[in-house]
Amino acid sequence: MRQTILDLEESKIREVANAGMGRSDVLAFWFGESDEVTPDIVRQAAIDSLQRGETFYAHNLGLPELREAVAGYTSRLHRPVGAQRIAITSGGVNALMLAVQALVDAGDDVVAVTPVWPNLTAQPLILGARLRRVSLTPRDGAWTLDLPRLLEAVTPATKLLIVNAPNNPTGWTLSRAEQQAILAHCRRTGTWILADEVYERLYYADDGACAPSFLDVAQPEDRLVVAHSFSKSFLMTGWRLGWLVMPESMTHAMGKLIEFNTSCASVFTQRAALAALQHTDAITPRVVAHLKACRDRLVPQLQALPGVELAMPQGGMYAFFRLLAGEDDSLRLAKRLVAEAGLGIAPGNAFAPEAQGWLRWCFASKDLARLDRGVERLAGWLQARR
Ligand code: PMP
Repeated sequence: MRQTILDLEESKIREVANAGMGRSDVLAFWFGESDEVTPDIVRQAAIDSLQRGETFYAHNLGLPELREAVAGYTSRLHRPVGAQRIAITSGGVNALMLAVQALVDAGDDVVAVTPVWPNLTAQPLILGARLRRVSLTPRDGAWTLDLPRLLEAVTPATKLLIVNAPNNPTGWTLSRAEQQAILAHCRRTGTWILADEVYERLYYADDGACAPSFLDVAQPEDRLVVAHSFSKSFLMTGWRLGWLVMPESMTHAMGKLIEFNTSCASVFTQRAALAALQHTDAITPRVVAHLKACRDRLVPQLQALPGVELAMPQGGMYAFFRLLAGEDDSLRLAKRLVAEAGLGIAPGNAFAPEAQGWLRWCFASKDLARLDRGVERLAGWLQARR
């Protein structure tokens, strides 16, 4: 067994969940998914596909009609993108891993903006790369980017810059001007950008708008790979389907790499994804409006609790906060909340050492009142500690 693999940190989110799973009295907000089932129309497309007997291997890069549909969807939201730049993957996490496999050699210098979902920092480590973190800085509960510090960290020796915005867990998003500055800098250093934009539709700054994307500012042959997922905007976490947008010159080799990883995404899930894209106007705005209502219900209640610090997240599906006094080890704190308050939330240090003391609450709850009950539990626990 490679030492690198043995040395990988286990998920601290899982550690907390394992402490509370199976306990019916725990209100769980630890995982990053909605508790709402995938829309009927999407599920029906998968059922129909199986009924038709579509149970065989497919093209490495995905069904041509799904690649076309993704290209159309992307072109509507951003700049025109052809299907030759799209690969369908077995989940967003698989899209990210494929991108890292395609771009990073053992020993390469990789920079990641953190805090971030731990899979993004684990993947380069699995490949033996050297990872450097550039941390966002918390200011009055909001995490902000020190752009000059990031640009200074990315040198001609840096092979890959990994950035996830809208960000899991902080809700931080990149501005258009920051994207332009990062892109211009990476053009100079010859660094690839891996942009994880799976939360682009879960963006609350302007009604109905999508978060700024690197695809809006980049040229087709820029060293840019964008990773996406059907999980968030279409309520399809369990389906394991995502996609990559890349320079066309990279697509053929990506097909080869997919062959050696998963060979292809399953056909019936791709049929479901096609239905999801065809009906996106009926699905995604409703999902986003509901998540916004969840955010607006939860965050002010947390802000009103004494000793709780957080800012209104601009994107994503998480409230990221800290308690200003008392326990400052996130993992211990999250485990105590499970044991003593029946409240399941994720520890901040799962996402970066600098988020020690912070907690992540996924607000994607079908039932808004469940969020209120969670806040009551936290409030009661804080009160009892005083
Ligand atoms: N990127 C980020 C930032 C995420 O939070 C997630 C899911 N938690 C993913 C990618 C991957 O999503 P999936 O594999 O479900 O498509």
